[in-house]
Amino acid sequence: MKKVLVIEDEKNILKGLMDNLKAEGFDVIGESIGKNGLATALGENVDLILLDLMLPDMSGLDICREIKKKKISVPIIMLTAKSKESDKILGLELGADDYITKPFSVNEVIARIRAVLRRVAVHDKAKKEKLENYEFDDIKVDFVKYEAWRGKKLLKLSKREFEVLEYFIKRKGEVVTRNDLLDVVWGYETFPTTRTVDNFVARIRKQIEKKPADPQYLLSIRGAGYKFTHD
Ligand code: CA
Repeated sequence: MKKVLVIEDEKNILKGLMDNLKAEGFDVIGESIGKNGLATALGENVDLILLDLMLPDMSGLDICREIKKKKISVPIIMLTAKSKESDKILGLELGADDYITKPFSVNEVIARIRAVLRRVAVHDKAKKEKLENYEFDDIKVDFVKYEAWRGKKLLKLSKREFEVLEYFIKRKGEVVTRNDLLDVVWGYETFPTTRTVDNFVARIRKQIEKKPADPQYLLSIRGAGYKFTHD
């Protein structure tokens, strides 16, 4: 049974979410005070957190930041009355996986929870499997020797660039978020920013793409991340 933590100070919303999630078969913990919610997030092994952005004692963004600082890899869906793009972007940058604007329907919340949990399961599976080699068009990649070739030309990729490329290939055809990559390749070890990911992608494109400015393999998906694809 998946355990969901709901951090929400509006009592009727908290109760409504808890009742419905229980009815859907989730194990639910509810917290109405931010610092208690954070303590539960850090102390209990929860599978997902529904986090209100506006709490009286601390903001949802601060809670999000604290959780990521402790290197706890738990998906977070932010709940908010604000629909300002800047809040959304800040939340996603801080590691929130999704964002729901109030007022919402419970069915929407449940659908989003299931979608995020599915995505996490795919991500965890890709994280565990090691790819040995891969070929696309005239490119050959050997992930054991960390060597890549375009025809007879040896491509210049660092070990970490190989790891980023490997993760993209394992999730071919799917949108990979910057946070997915931070989690799998960097593990939040040195607090790289999402900008770091963009720089890595730019360097990989320079090696594998015929026209790095107009990529055919590593595509940018606006507002979401990147997608690796080939015929
Ligand atoms: Ca609130």
